[in-house]
Amino acid sequence: MTDTVASVLHALGPRPGRLFIGGRWLDWSGPRFDQIHPSNNQVLTSFPEAGERGVREAVAAARQAFDEGPWPRMRAQDRKRLLQPIVERIHAEEEAIAKLQTLDNGIPYTFSRNTRVSAKAAADIFDHFLGWIDKLNGETFPQYSGASNMQYMTFRDPVGVVAAILPYNGPVMTFAMKVAPALACGCTVVVKPSELTNLAVRRLAEIVAESDLPPGVFNFVTGGAETGAALTSHPDVDKITFTGSPVAGERIMVASAPTMKRLSLELGGKSAALVFPDTRSVQATAHALMGLCSTFLSGQVCSTPTRALVHRSIMDEFLHHAQEQLHKVRFGDPFDPATTSAPMVSRRQQARVLGYVESGKQQGATLLAGGTAPGGEFASGNWVEPALFANVRNDMTIAQEEIFGPVLSVIPFETEEEAIRIANDSDYGLAGCVYTTDVTRAFRVARAIRSGSIGVNGFASTPNAPFGGVKRSGVGREGGWATVEAFTELKTINFNLDA
Ligand code: NAD
Repeated sequence: MTDTVASVLHALGPRPGRLFIGGRWLDWSGPRFDQIHPSNNQVLTSFPEAGERGVREAVAAARQAFDEGPWPRMRAQDRKRLLQPIVERIHAEEEAIAKLQTLDNGIPYTFSRNTRVSAKAAADIFDHFLGWIDKLNGETFPQYSGASNMQYMTFRDPVGVVAAILPYNGPVMTFAMKVAPALACGCTVVVKPSELTNLAVRRLAEIVAESDLPPGVFNFVTGGAETGAALTSHPDVDKITFTGSPVAGERIMVASAPTMKRLSLELGGKSAALVFPDTRSVQATAHALMGLCSTFLSGQVCSTPTRALVHRSIMDEFLHHAQEQLHKVRFGDPFDPATTSAPMVSRRQQARVLGYVESGKQQGATLLAGGTAPGGEFASGNWVEPALFANVRNDMTIAQEEIFGPVLSVIPFETEEEAIRIANDSDYGLAGCVYTTDVTRAFRVARAIRSGSIGVNGFASTPNAPFGGVKRSGVGREGGWATVEAFTELKTINFNLDA
């Protein structure tokens, strides 16, 4: 029998949330907030709003564990032994975690279970970063001049107490991308999920809590922007690793400035896909780009190419096939294998997306399909019919602002130079894609686009390669050695051999 939201809720019966601080689960006496499931707006359970008091306690525990505990100084092999069981435990609970993530943000279970936002992917991320533990190497330097007999060497120290603040769209994957490298590098952590999506992260937190880490090394608090802000302004936090909106990213930069915290900010995107007439298949490209906006998390993904820059000579063919793809979209219970797409995470996000659709129409773009909220059986959820806009100019709001919903804006171009200019005319620079069979063009365009990543004929991130943004898309990179650098500080020791 196929699962439904009701049957999964019945089976998993989400319990009210608690905080994990200093090695103990705490029943919180302060205010609480409800978590709501987006496909029907049903209240699932409640979580504590940790606020300043919860943050103060969690940071104090993390600070003490960092300054006085064994964790930052532990031998590589011992640290690895303590963390290794987490990988196996996540694997063992892949299915349950995927179900919780579907309850969290309405991502169809098939995607929650099988893609790069799955628990399996999170276990792989832990596995990857555990591999760095015995490779956090420094360097030695040849003597520069004969003036002294100083020897120079560097050590890679953990950056300190890390606050990890997560978004709603990929809670399982982002938990792993932040907590795994922080722990691997010897940091202590306070993690806060999005107030919209706590269930899967709570399960991951339980798994980490059930391992034998020293008390205070890992802490879990819940709450909204206020709790996040308390973390980012706390003087005892050394580093913030944040994934979320540019607006919150700006506030975090300001709040963290007085104590010069280290920052990794993975923010929004408005990525462009440049489709040239020599793309291998116009049909496959149109299906892929419309599919990225209309299925999976329905465009609620930072790296989604939401601007399709299409050569005029193939425009009609592209738009025809993009509309064709929309026939494959199925709304429904997110546990039904036939469901292809997610609702918007909240009523607020649904209204925001519908507002952008209106602005597109008002500014003169041609809405070819979608852009409405379905009624009937779907009226109780935050669904938006995927929107396809043609005749979009790059200065329109729908081409400039991150909508974070199922809206594809198609912009025509004539020349490669024009396409590059349009792609780069953006406040964002996270990802992007070029579709062509001309290898030299692919290389030229990929080099010319100002973004942290760019795909050629496809795009996917991986835990062992850097990912991140330029401009308003963020600061720093996550993935592989780039993450290790971001969670460590170099210390240079000058050794006087003449003393
Ligand atoms: P959001 O900024 O609304 O919230 C993200 C987190 O920040 C939440 O935990 C929230 O409670 C917290 N927060 C909000 N205001 C804060 C403040 N002033 N100080 C500290 N914490 C604060 O983002 P969201 O709606 O959850 O996620 C969507 C955004 O995330 C999009 O812009 C998307 O592009 C971006 N995102 C980026 C990446 C990436 O890798 N670059 C990945 C996923 C999502």
